[in-house]
Amino acid sequence: MADDLAELLHELIVATRILANQKVLDAFGHVSVRHPRDPGRYFISRHQAPELAEVADLVELDLDSQPVRPTEFRLYSERVIHGEIYKARPDVHAVCHHHSHDVLPFCVSGRELVPVFHLPAVIGHVPFWDQHDEFGDTNMLVVKPEEGASLARTLGKNWMVLMRRHGATVAGTSLREMTFRTVYGCENAALQSKAMAHGHVDHLSPGEMKLSSEHSVRPPSTNRAWNYWVRHVERAGLMPAKAGARRATASATRAKTKRAPAKRRSTTRR
Ligand code: MN
Repeated sequence: MADDLAELLHELIVATRILANQKVLDAFGHVSVRHPRDPGRYFISRHQAPELAEVADLVELDLDSQPVRPTEFRLYSERVIHGEIYKARPDVHAVCHHHSHDVLPFCVSGRELVPVFHLPAVIGHVPFWDQHDEFGDTNMLVVKPEEGASLARTLGKNWMVLMRRHGATVAGTSLREMTFRTVYGCENAALQSKAMAHGHVDHLSPGEMKLSSEHSVRPPSTNRAWNYWVRHVERAGLMPAKAGARRATASATRAKTKRAPAKRRSTTRR
């Protein structure tokens, strides 16, 4: 595997650990990154709590969210969220879907999420998507390609979409930008809820939003925040080992083949 791809997959795991450590992700939610050289593919963990994911757990999917190579891994049922957004938005290279308890009150009340200080200006306009509008009663999971495509249509040219009674999906042109937007989107939601208790919510003007956002998505800001969050991940003892990650990726296919018989034996025992 080329070094730049190994580096990107390591960064995907770091982004996931950051978002778990920041309590954006819990047992559920997921993060993905588009293949740097093949825009028709993306990487995402196999089905598990995102914080547990290692590079060896990543699967490569096409934009119909089907595995590029046969795999015995169970996959996230909501992976179409990622595939359909990558399909609709060539400029998007990273996606996070989460159910943060900071944004959920907005998903429940329908109250508009607006940037209330300068750093979250990167969330921009945040539209609402209600799965029930187009699909009626469902189990609330976005599992059909047409459901993912509908969500991507509502996202439109924006970067964050709130999903009624469900959660949020956030996009970015890079993993670091997406991570910045995801964390500050949640912090904004928490602060806006607190400000609402004061009775009045002030928010950025459209001009302030544009200028602040342009400033914050630049690498000096996203890298500064990234390095800060990485320090917290290190303190929590959650930082994935870099060299080990590279070896694990190289041997992922072999490891999967070896694990398969063990899995079948355990099934027989049950
Ligand atoms: Mn979900």
